[in-house]
Amino acid sequence: MAERTTLIAGNWKMNASSEMAVNLIDGLLTWPGKPGVEMLVCPPSPYLGPVGAMISESDIRLGAQTCHPNASGAHTGDVAAEMLADLGCSYVIVGHSERRADHGETDADVHAQAEATHRAGLSAIVCVGETEAERDAGKTLDIVGAQVANSVPDGATAENTVVAYEPVWAIGTGRTPTSDQVQEVHAAIRSGLKERFGDAIASGMRLLYGGSMKPSNAAELLALADVDGGLIGGASLKAEDFTAIADAAG
Ligand code: PEP
Repeated sequence: MAERTTLIAGNWKMNASSEMAVNLIDGLLTWPGKPGVEMLVCPPSPYLGPVGAMISESDIRLGAQTCHPNASGAHTGDVAAEMLADLGCSYVIVGHSERRADHGETDADVHAQAEATHRAGLSAIVCVGETEAERDAGKTLDIVGAQVANSVPDGATAENTVVAYEPVWAIGTGRTPTSDQVQEVHAAIRSGLKERFGDAIASGMRLLYGGSMKPSNAAELLALADVDGGLIGGASLKAEDFTAIADAAG
């Protein structure tokens, strides 16, 4: 099996202030690091510059929460992947279920955003996941398989793409699937990627789990064979919780 660096990614969503960002980053900067574990913070776009400056001398990576498919132009309020690269980002989260729900983003939109991310030389974290109704109807693997097939672009490699499996019903709810359910979905995602991209790319590509990951469940989830890290919302807003999750990896 290919060696995959564990990615512990914090999605701050629309939560921050200048003071909160300073306090949180100060806390994260005390984390001594762990071999084989990469820490990433994704603040709201107005805080990317200041947070980027705070972590520039550290190993903590900077990421954004979305981007527009185009490189520039008349798109009021939007942010291009090239701008994110210019600000020092390494990653862009695309297709988070809250973007899909709040902004009607489709797999085609997410595909275009992931391509834009690649065009700018950044890595895309492509989010997929079923709703509770879809899980109850036994459609999880079909839904997630189709989302991956339609959202991940042809140019995906192990270096420029990460897939985050986030069951919609587990995000911010305190509920998580069982470890067997998580591993089942991750194995299915990897096998779909293998069919499309071949063994080398698929076995090198990182697959994150997201949805109510916290210090108390992180070790079990991160130990699963096809789980290569976490995409963490609520628990990424407290330095001690986020670093405890990073410590639970590997
Ligand atoms: C997320 O926002 O991607 C997420 C998984 O949130 P939470 O950890 O709060 O469930």
